[in-house]
Amino acid sequence: MVHASEEDHQAIREAIRKICAAFPDTYWREIDKAGEYPQAFVDALTASGYLAALIPEEYGGAGLGITEAGIILEEINRSPGNALACHAQMYTMGTLLKHGSAEQKRRYLPKIASGELRLQAFAVTEPNAGSESTRIETRAVRKGDTYIVNGQKIFISRVKQSDLMLLLARTTPYDQLKDKTQGLSVFIVDLRDLKGKLEVKPLDMMFNHHTNILFFEDVEIPLENRIGEEGKGFRYIIDGWNAERILIASEAIGDGRWFVERGAKYASERVVFGKPIGANQGVQFPIARAFAHVEAADRMRMFAAEKFDAGEKCGAEANMAKLLASEASWEAANACLDAFGGYGFAREYDVERKFRETRLYMTAPINNNLVLAFLGQNVLGMPKSY
Ligand SMILES: Cc1cc2nc3c(=O)[nH]c(=O)nc-3n(C[C@H](O)[C@H](O)[C@H](O)COP(=O)(O)OP(=O)(O)OC[C@H]3O[C@@H](n4cnc5c(N)ncnc54)[C@H](O)[C@@H]3O)c2cc1C
Repeated sequence: MVHASEEDHQAIREAIRKICAAFPDTYWREIDKAGEYPQAFVDALTASGYLAALIPEEYGGAGLGITEAGIILEEINRSPGNALACHAQMYTMGTLLKHGSAEQKRRYLPKIASGELRLQAFAVTEPNAGSESTRIETRAVRKGDTYIVNGQKIFISRVKQSDLMLLLARTTPYDQLKDKTQGLSVFIVDLRDLKGKLEVKPLDMMFNHHTNILFFEDVEIPLENRIGEEGKGFRYIIDGWNAERILIASEAIGDGRWFVERGAKYASERVVFGKPIGANQGVQFPIARAFAHVEAADRMRMFAAEKFDAGEKCGAEANMAKLLASEASWEAANACLDAFGGYGFAREYDVERKFRETRLYMTAPINNNLVLAFLGQNVLGMPKSY
């Protein structure tokens, strides 16, 4: 991994700000309204090389760490934009890097780094399993050198915008397992050249997120596309959870800063009863309080990221960062919306769009109750709820 200094971090921030400056409020507002994918933005980010931050240099990436990847996503969310359109490539990278074979890395990573291939979809959640991922039912049955997949997934984002999708599927029936965390396997699904039937049904969601229900009918996946050992897939996914938590926290911090900056500016300019509304403590203090919470969450995020990049245990810090950052961005969103009054609800001010977008971080990819359960049970040793 490339060791990046404070100056490098500042340079990354400035480079991302420059890319984002070409995609102003109006770009994201129109995309949101039309329900379109921000193709031009994702293309620009890919061309800049920053989307390949986590791919090692030998495969054509930047070879940076989670700290730098987090800074990139944070700066995107601090702009009028949103990293949700393309963050999955970073979220899923650990599974491929840590557990993929040398051949899989050679086959996919250089093309992902160059933008020729897009790995933006990750299929875990199912209607009958929810947060309890070890209960998933989508079956992958091995027949010679092929797995045949049947089942259903829900809330799977960007499938239509992706060439590759990571899939978690069951390779051993649940009732045949002693250890319920075994029996699941991870596959790289090549969506361009699929044998069998994969129906992708878009869901109408609260914001522009390209999220779908998937129906697999005898979908064939070559054996060579299984990542790591059969039955160990859940372990591989868990391995990526700390990175994912730190990256979500980073996005939430970017949003939080956007809300604080917009809210403070508007409150300083808008005059009611003969003075700027921000002079009233009822308007000023919620923004100031949210600012303090966003900055505190940022310190926990950086602490977690540094530990992660140093190869140290960081489960507690990564979970605390995700919890604090998602709560702080939501607090900032409410303070900003309140400061904008009725205008906060008008699309042309973008507060309502960001407000809808940032709410997700408390719920997905993991809801804050399960984050608290991790802290309560795994860190503090209290009794388990599940
Ligand atoms: C916009 C969006 C995009 C998504 N994209 C993807 C994607 O690309 N790929 C993918 O695999 N998934 C995706 N998801 C799914 C997401 O990861 C799940 O929604 C999330 O993990 C929660 O699962 P669930 O919705 O089934 O909630 P459930 O598991 O049904 O839980 C519902 C609520 O119950 C509470 N709860 C459940 N169990 C406990 C417990 N033991 N203790 C306390 N509280 C509990 C939680 O607070 C939770 O909010 C996406 C979701 C959304 C909304």
